[in-house]
This record gives sequence, C-alpha cells and structure tokens, in this order.
Amino acid sequence: MKAVGVFPERRTVELVSFDDPKITSPGQVKIRVLQVGVCGTDREICDFEYGTPPEGSEYLVLGHESLGEVVDAGGSNAFKAGDLVVPSVRRPCNHADCVACRAGRQDFCYSGDFRERGIRSQHGFMTQFVVEAAEYLSLVPPELRDVGILVEPLTIAEKTLMEIQTIQQRLPWGLSTDSSVPPRGCHRALVLGAGPVGLLGAMALVNGGYDTYVYSRSRTPNIKADLAESFGAKYFSSQEMTVAQLAAKMGNIDVVYEALGASQLAFEVAQVLGANGIFVFTGVPKHGDPITIDTDMLMRNMVLKNQVILGTVNAGHNAFEAAIRDLKIFNSRWPKSLRALITGHYPIEAFREPIFARSGIKNVIEMDGK
Ligand code: BGC
Repeated sequence: MKAVGVFPERRTVELVSFDDPKITSPGQVKIRVLQVGVCGTDREICDFEYGTPPEGSEYLVLGHESLGEVVDAGGSNAFKAGDLVVPSVRRPCNHADCVACRAGRQDFCYSGDFRERGIRSQHGFMTQFVVEAAEYLSLVPPELRDVGILVEPLTIAEKTLMEIQTIQQRLPWGLSTDSSVPPRGCHRALVLGAGPVGLLGAMALVNGGYDTYVYSRSRTPNIKADLAESFGAKYFSSQEMTVAQLAAKMGNIDVVYEALGASQLAFEVAQVLGANGIFVFTGVPKHGDPITIDTDMLMRNMVLKNQVILGTVNAGHNAFEAAIRDLKIFNSRWPKSLRALITGHYPIEAFREPIFARSGIKNVIEMDGK
C-alpha cells in the first residue's frame, strides 16, 4: 500500500509502499483511511524542521488529522466494520511516574517522551490502512462523513473551552460546569488568525455563546471574513484596524484564542486583554529574531487584572468526544459554512500541492483516490 514518507536524513518527501498492517493484539482495529487533513505542522515536517521517524525507520509516514472506516474490528466490541472513526494523535510515554500518561492524559505528558502519530516517533495516517488500538478511536456518526476530517483540528478549541470553564470557576458568580454556556462575566472572545484552527475555534466560541471577533491579516472583503460572518463572528483586518481600535470596539476582552503561530501580533494583543481575561496560545511559532515587548506592562496587567496566560497542545479523548458532539451541532446550524472550511481535495499522488501550496483553508488528501 502507498504512503507519504518524510526522509529527514535525505531531506526528501516521497511516496513509499509497504505491506498492509496486520492486527496483532485483541484490542486493535484495522482501519481504511478515507481522508487526511493537511496543516502547518505537516508543512514544517516536510521542511525538515520538525518530526521524527519511528526508531529504526528511515522515514516517517506523515499525517495526523484523519478520518477512517473500520474494516476489521478485531476483538473490540466498541466498533464494527463500516463504522467511521477518528484516531487521536498522541500516545503515552513509558515512564511509570508520568501521572498524566498513566491516567490516559498524554496531552499533559510530563516526561516529554510521548509519541505522536505522523509527527513524532510513530507513523501517521497518510497511507491506505492503519491498525490502531480501539482506545485511541472515537466513533463518528455517518452524517459527518464529509466533515469528520475537521474533528482533530476542532479538538484544540474544545480542550481550550474546557480549560476556560475550569479556570473561570474562580469567578464565584460564574460557577457553571456546563461547557455549552460561557461562564458569566466571560463572554467576549477574540480569535487571532483565520486559518482552520482559528475559524473552527471561532465557530466553537460562537456556538458556546461567546460574542466572537476574528482578527486576521487579510483586508476585507475576503473569503475567510465572509465565512466568519456567515456563522455569526465579526471579522476585522489587522491592516484596517489597529489593536487599540479593536480593543476599544470590543470592550473587556475576556478570552483571546491565538491561532496565528506568530508571536509579535499575539503579544501586542496580550496587552489589551481585559480584566479577569484568559489568553490562550495554540500556535507554535518558528524561531525568529527576538522581538521587543513591554514586559512591565504585561506583568502589571497580569497581576492587577487577574489575567491568565495559557498554552495548550494536543487533546484528550474528552475533547475528541466534544468535537464530534459540536460538529453535529455546527452541521445543523451552519451546514454551508462548515463545508466551506474544506477548500481542496487531492489524490495521494498530488500530496505536494496541499502541503506546499499554502492556499485555501483546510485541504484534504483523499486516500481512496476520489
Ligand atoms: C497537532 C497536535 C500536536 C501538535 C504538536 C499539532 O499540529 O494537531 O496533535 O500535539 O501539532 O506536535
């Protein structure tokens, strides 16, 4: 079967072929991969800046955002042939004292020795069949066949929403354990960036009851601005409105959801975060030249305004379940907007195009060639 392999030593990315994987233990499920999404992490791996092949392999099979169909449920009672599934990305480390991994929450791994499918020390999903332990799979309902590929990038927002909910329990009047309503006094959200992570985050925030603003580079009108507005967010361009003007327009900024992966604008916006606000970083910037920021101002604000600055990576099983639940809701509230997030479909032979072209919003590789 075919796969996209990244050879860091040779600095090449090639189509490779090898035998179908086999089920070797009772908890495993064999999956036909239907679609694989392409994101900035894949680009970095193909630029040889990130990513590690499994031990003993010259190459890493790319791909961590996927949607598949069960072809053999093995000994698992949770799945049957024909079920749609989305696998999670991160696998636990082996350290006995890593309480996070031992609790099945490798997204909070302490040791740093976790593996990630398609990213770090374990092959990914840009191939025709994979075998995966049932515990790392989430069931996707058939109605989400054409948008289920968005589950993994949506988990980033879902984990964030859960963390915000937990943190804002500190506001005594905001007490709520219901993640579908924003904590009281915490309802104005600013999303930085209008890529797939930003737009899916904006959708999740609008759906969660937040008054949601998207701030991104492109001047209006543009497709991403139209898309954001189509599901109830407000879009502003950083080329048309300064950070100070935006802050004056919004009022108290309760949440910033950073999905830019660039630190300069992010830290400029951090300076206008509101009282009791939470700033969430999700992007992984490239190493660039150091920038100057007003650290006194940041520190004063953090203390005097009870602010929280938070970084978040990867996601647990609960975030995958929440993403599937919310995709169903998005699918009934904004079916057109949801589909408009997926802008390109490519066969595996054309894998280079979506990885290197950097156009559109979410580009996917159709593994069955359609
Ligand atoms: C993936 C995460 C992963 C992170 C760091 C992201 O693109 O969505 O699952 O943890 O990269 O490798």
